Amino acid sequence: MDAEFTRNLVDCHKCPRLVNYLQTLAPKGQRSRDDYWNRPVPGFGDPAARVLLVGLAPGAHGANRTGRPFTGDGAGDFMYPLLYQAGFANQPEVSHADDGLRLTDLYISNAVKCVPPENKPTAAEFANCRPYLASELAGLPQLQVVLTLGQGAFTSCLRLFRDQGVISSLGALPFGHGVSYLLENGLMLVASYHTSRYNVQTRRIDEAMFLKLLQRVRRLVAGENG
Ligand code: SF4
Repeated sequence: MDAEFTRNLVDCHKCPRLVNYLQTLAPKGQRSRDDYWNRPVPGFGDPAARVLLVGLAPGAHGANRTGRPFTGDGAGDFMYPLLYQAGFANQPEVSHADDGLRLTDLYISNAVKCVPPENKPTAAEFANCRPYLASELAGLPQLQVVLTLGQGAFTSCLRLFRDQGVISSLGALPFGHGVSYLLENGLMLVASYHTSRYNVQTRRIDEAMFLKLLQRVRRLVAGENG
């Protein structure tokens, strides 16, 4: 995304509850507030990406600390080694925004760019942030697949596509791990369970499931049947 988009995003104050939360969020462990990004977290990745991965929102002590999606928390620690195995990342481990990670054919962002209390954005916050997501989609000219993590990100994408006139109703496209829908705008919408620590610990999702889905997405952008 261009510099102006990023500047506007990181200065955004559209959601009072989230702005207030960012101003009061207590740091974890020995860290201080100066160690935290504590602003809206922009997406990042390959500008020529054919795949956009959309999470829910920055993790309080992960992306909200490091300033890069899925960096520094359990969801990212689970996900990046698998992105590496699937050929979307140049290294399996991530730790901070300058750790040398490069994504290939993949851009990563969140449906909501500010960390919400208890990981639960309100409907209004999803709606406030959707124009940023729309800009990210529009800024990826090679985009073919939108891979959503969790029902919140999936539904926010559905609402975006409905607002754009791409789909007529949300009910016709139910969420489920591994479901995929070819949309009228040519994009393939793919759903996954979120890679949150909770989902991993409860075995809702495991490495094999997520890697299999990533490999399927790889085949989809290569023009093979998923
Ligand atoms: S969640 Fe999105 S719309 Fe709301 S304040 Fe953060 S960047 Fe702005």
